[in-house]
Amino acid sequence: MIQDYKNKKEAEPKQIRKLGNKSLNIVWSDDHISEYTFYKLRIHCPCAACVDELSGKKVLDSKQVAPLIQGLNVNIVGNYALSITFEDGHSTGIYPFKYLRQICSCKIWLEN
Ligand SMILES: [Zn+2]
Ligand SMILES: [Zn+2]
Repeated sequence: MIQDYKNKKEAEPKQIRKLGNKSLNIVWSDDHISEYTFYKLRIHCPCAACVDELSGKKVLDSKQVAPLIQGLNVNIVGNYALSITFEDGHSTGIYPFKYLRQICSCKIWLEN
């Protein structure tokens, strides 16, 4: 495999579980466990409609997102990311595993 092994190891999910329509649970290869509500995932959507591609600034207004928004569908994309379909019909966001690890609520990885 032609991939940076270290990078891959940092952010490879061992198990991805959708807990009902409310949250998503990821167990990582280093046994770190992350739990995300779909609200959190929705407001962190990295797609071009939610984040300005040039400035990297968020254009999505979090207040427009229902706090209890549900996730209808979670799919693995190309072995490196998740694609999520939300209750509000939004489904253009591709969430790379590395990004998901970064937005984990423990914030350990945001500092690196
Ligand atoms: Zn989006
Ligand atoms: Zn964490």
